[in-house]
Amino acid sequence: MPTKYIFIAGGVMSGIGKGITTASIGRILKSKGFRIQTMKIDPYVNVDAGTMNPIEHGEVFVTDDGTECDQDVGNYERFLEESLSTDNYLTTGRVYQAVIQRERNLEYGGKCVEVVPHIPEEVIGRIKKLEQKTKADIILIEIGGTVGEYQNLLFLEAARMLKLRNPKGVVFVLVSYLPTPQNLGEMKTKPTQYAVRSLNMAGIQPDVIIARGNQPLDEPRKRKISIFCSVDEKDVISAPDVKSIYEVPLDFEKDELGNRILKKFGLNPRVKDLKDWQDLVFKINNPKREVKIGIVGKYFKSGGFTLMDSYISVLEAIKHAAFYFQAKPDIIWFDSENYEKNPLALKELKQVAGVIVPGGFGNRGVEGKIKAIEYCRKNKIPYFGLCLGMQLAVVEFARNVCGIKNANSTEFSSACQGVIDLMPEQKQLIKEAKFGATMRLGAFDCQLKQGSIARKAYGQELISERHRHRYELNDEFKPSLEKKGLIIAGVNPQRNLVEIVELGQKEHPFFLGTQFHPEFKSRPLNPHPLFREFVRTCLKIK
Ligand code: GLN
Repeated sequence: MPTKYIFIAGGVMSGIGKGITTASIGRILKSKGFRIQTMKIDPYVNVDAGTMNPIEHGEVFVTDDGTECDQDVGNYERFLEESLSTDNYLTTGRVYQAVIQRERNLEYGGKCVEVVPHIPEEVIGRIKKLEQKTKADIILIEIGGTVGEYQNLLFLEAARMLKLRNPKGVVFVLVSYLPTPQNLGEMKTKPTQYAVRSLNMAGIQPDVIIARGNQPLDEPRKRKISIFCSVDEKDVISAPDVKSIYEVPLDFEKDELGNRILKKFGLNPRVKDLKDWQDLVFKINNPKREVKIGIVGKYFKSGGFTLMDSYISVLEAIKHAAFYFQAKPDIIWFDSENYEKNPLALKELKQVAGVIVPGGFGNRGVEGKIKAIEYCRKNKIPYFGLCLGMQLAVVEFARNVCGIKNANSTEFSSACQGVIDLMPEQKQLIKEAKFGATMRLGAFDCQLKQGSIARKAYGQELISERHRHRYELNDEFKPSLEKKGLIIAGVNPQRNLVEIVELGQKEHPFFLGTQFHPEFKSRPLNPHPLFREFVRTCLKIK
């Protein structure tokens, strides 16, 4: 069977769930027996997401092969239960970089290299590469941004060209937003009509419209969209806000979206198996208890708004672990900077069953996080440190248990005892200002210590986890830290780098930090073992 393509574009505004839509359609089609791949195309000029501030862009997700990409790739991995790679992610920067390099290598044979057709051709080439590598039956391609923007036109152009070559092999899905202005109290279809016009101007007619809104789409408005946008009424899918994103595939299936898309390709479902997904949603909607987890971080304020996108994989990993125990996760945000000005505020950590300090960069809020970790250690509040959260746990332990008063990470102070220090290969890179894609990135092995919390959680000795950092526990300090009771529970066998530290469970119910980011590998149907054990402890203590 020749590979089929589904392009997903957004109308009216961003942030309405194109990524979840793409991931959900992927999950549905996978459950019908097809090999699925997804690709995220981002219109920014950055070569990858690694150089962007999470407040600007949301979390930087990392794949096994070390690609720093958009958080939607994380959504795809979670919904599809597949590990993706650099071939599943494209940006304007990547496309232009490749075309310019090809031109420098004389690969265009003396031709004038032009934006059209060479840029869309490069995009199509990338899609074909993914197809050849994975032998996917269906590839879903999500085009970032909103239709009508100048930025993503060339990607729409690529989609149009692909449709011209495969008239029966390409389906277009528009995810649009239907506002219900408070003063009118009526759901309005006009912005969606304009979005379809914009898409038409790019030479594309949508086959399916996903009608997002804060309430379900009613019949009259469905009919209106159908008539004005030339889409079959049954292909206008009502997609109201849901409590949990994991309900979306089931919601779409109520309208038989999967089979309708397959029919457009002339395909029939091969099997039908959403059972495990249904069980998951049942557990989510019927919690037996609650678990309160605190996240002490700094990337959530954007002007007057609180954004949670910066920590999306951490949030999802907590949820997956809670769902596993049929518990309702209640996640509370704590601003670490607050503890610097007002240490008495640390008391608020008593209201949660466990605390996480996630990854981060730069000085802001660091001392507050260290105070929070100290508070958790002393008050036996379960603590789970992720990357920076592990490094700061080491700094806290060095200062307050080992008595190394000016212990710190050299990321934050040049005149300190650098218990956390830049990895040797990083020194030169930083000197030369080579910041793009140069951290220690992607999957590395880790050997676990017998009897440790980690070893018990994973149930195996050798694991592989994803990384994104430049600093590491400094070997020189290992003996002093270990002497005072810090357990080195995981080590990278190739380079002898410390990857996990813990406290003994006689002293503390759960105090563990990882140099890697376990959150990237947690899946709703398969929660990460460390998150699972952390949440298990939190539930027990509560
Ligand atoms: N800033 C730290 C480092 O570069 C931690 C990075 C992180 O938390 N991802 O090592």
